[in-house]
Amino acid sequence: MRPTEDKHRHQGLRKKLVDQLRSHGISSEQVLDAIGQIPRHYFLDSAFDDIAYENRAFPIGEGQTISHPYTVAYQTQLLDVKRFDKVLEVGTGSAYQAVVLASLGVQVYTIERQRKLFDANKQFKWLQQQPGIKFFYGDGFEGLPTFAPFDKILITAAAPHIPPKLVNQLKPGGVMVLPVGEGDTQQMCRVTNEENNTLRVERFEQFSFVPMLSGKES
Ligand code: SAH
Repeated sequence: MRPTEDKHRHQGLRKKLVDQLRSHGISSEQVLDAIGQIPRHYFLDSAFDDIAYENRAFPIGEGQTISHPYTVAYQTQLLDVKRFDKVLEVGTGSAYQAVVLASLGVQVYTIERQRKLFDANKQFKWLQQQPGIKFFYGDGFEGLPTFAPFDKILITAAAPHIPPKLVNQLKPGGVMVLPVGEGDTQQMCRVTNEENNTLRVERFEQFSFVPMLSGKES
């Protein structure tokens, strides 16, 4: 069962979480505000109600997880979205990250390879009422050529390499944030498609994501 009530207690816990993220170095007030406003417990089973605002990942079914709030904040901050940006997210999962992005005023195109997670999001009434998010079932390695090019691309699963088809779907000057690596941990990277057609790769902290897998799971 999904919780549907946002109580004072939840709001208080969110405030504490925001303070924690700030003390861990998240400095974008926009990102902190988004995390302070979005009811993360809605994205989890009610069994997790009391711990939904701890800075940790939780299972969402199909062996997948909702990312740590710190990871969501970190990736969102690195992506540095502007209002009305067109953003592709690979790995919808619980859709929490998609809602964080949409709350920043961007148009989100999010793609998930697990049919059951995609279907669960279609049944999630509150989510379907959130504006600015389009949901797709497919393989994120392919991106969404029909809707390309994108201002920004965010990958929320561990990519074995920088996916070339996604680079091709970035606008000139566009930015992609992704964890790269095949071991237990991956390095967060920010790839900029420079106007002169070269790629600039910046490297950041280590994180631990579920793997980005090719093909679809029915
Ligand atoms: N952004 C999510 C994080 C989910 S974990 C959230 O906020 O909850 C990563 C997700 O990426 C999983 O749901 C997994 O099924 C999905 N995934 C992995 N490889 C993928 C691919 N090639 N295309 C689309 N989704 C993928």
